[in-house]
Amino acid sequence: MPRFWRRLRWQLIAAQLVVVAVGVVVLIGAADVLATRAIAPELLPAVQVAITKALIIAAVAAATVGLGTSLLLLREILRPLHEVAHSSQRIASGRYDERVEVPATEELGALASSFNQMAEVLETVEHQRILLIGNVAHELRTPLAGLEGYLEGLVDGVFPSTPETFTEMQHEVRRLRRLVDDLQTLSRVESGQVQLTFSDFDLGELAGWVLVRLQPQLIDGHLGISFMPPATPVRVYADPDRTAQILLNLLGNAIRYTPEGGTISVSLRQDQDQAQLQVCDTGIGIPADALPYIFERFYRVDPSRSRSSGGSGIGLTIAQHLAWAMAGDIVAESAGPGQGSCFTVTLPLAE
Ligand code: ADP
Repeated sequence: MPRFWRRLRWQLIAAQLVVVAVGVVVLIGAADVLATRAIAPELLPAVQVAITKALIIAAVAAATVGLGTSLLLLREILRPLHEVAHSSQRIASGRYDERVEVPATEELGALASSFNQMAEVLETVEHQRILLIGNVAHELRTPLAGLEGYLEGLVDGVFPSTPETFTEMQHEVRRLRRLVDDLQTLSRVESGQVQLTFSDFDLGELAGWVLVRLQPQLIDGHLGISFMPPATPVRVYADPDRTAQILLNLLGNAIRYTPEGGTISVSLRQDQDQAQLQVCDTGIGIPADALPYIFERFYRVDPSRSRSSGGSGIGLTIAQHLAWAMAGDIVAESAGPGQGSCFTVTLPLAE
């Protein structure tokens, strides 16, 4: 037991004994004064002896009870506190699975429960950190293995040193760069360090501009697009560049996950103090059991399909954090595989 716990134990016992001692002294004094005044002088010595005896018995009983309650208090209060202090040291040294026993006492029980809750959150964060490192390593390995393969092929003469081979290598390097850029953006948005420049702008106009930028991909994918901006502008208060980034991600996904001949519909409306922009597609859809996870880092419904089309699995995580940073949100809906998907972005209206 550390020194300060031992000291606290003795302080508690001493406090109880001091109370007993003060009580006894005051009682002796008071009894003496009152007895002198109220009792006949010839009876006084006998009464004083009786009072002193009674007080000694009472003092011994009070001291014994005081000691007993001190020890009980020590067990009830100090032991759980000591356990919390000991466990926090173990957590600090990396034992995130550490938990304390929850005592029956209401206040100490609440303290122990809060402590266990904190330990659980720390354990989850640590688990996510380990998972993130594993995921990053895994994501980096794919383009690196591709590059290594091309280089080995060139050295061994299996691949000819033609522009086609170098174009393939460039493709892998670009993939690596995109991943590193995405990871950097992710770390910034998740730590709230992303720089936002808020202004008042028309969301319909911005959506139209993003669609024009994506026109070549829409044509390549033989996809139809439907967008009718509302007659009156829907002005929002947000960062236009980051909003465009969100729309590019959602529309990029819609293009990526919608087979040829499909349609992408964009709609915009005002709902109380929010603007709602919806991107719906007639694509592959999302299974109900995958829907709750699609905004998680590196989550992909079909990893091989998404990876082969260049998806890093963190686009939606970044988009959702950006929306949150602008006091908005993104939600996803899908009736299931083959039924298409809808993503709705909400942003606060400009005043
Ligand atoms: P990725 O870069 O892999 O597309 P995202 O974070 O943008 O990563 O998306 C996560 C996953 O959500 C995707 O891998 C895909 O499985 C699913 N997803 C996203 N948008 C759509 C969509 N419009 N239709 C079907 N699935 C989608």
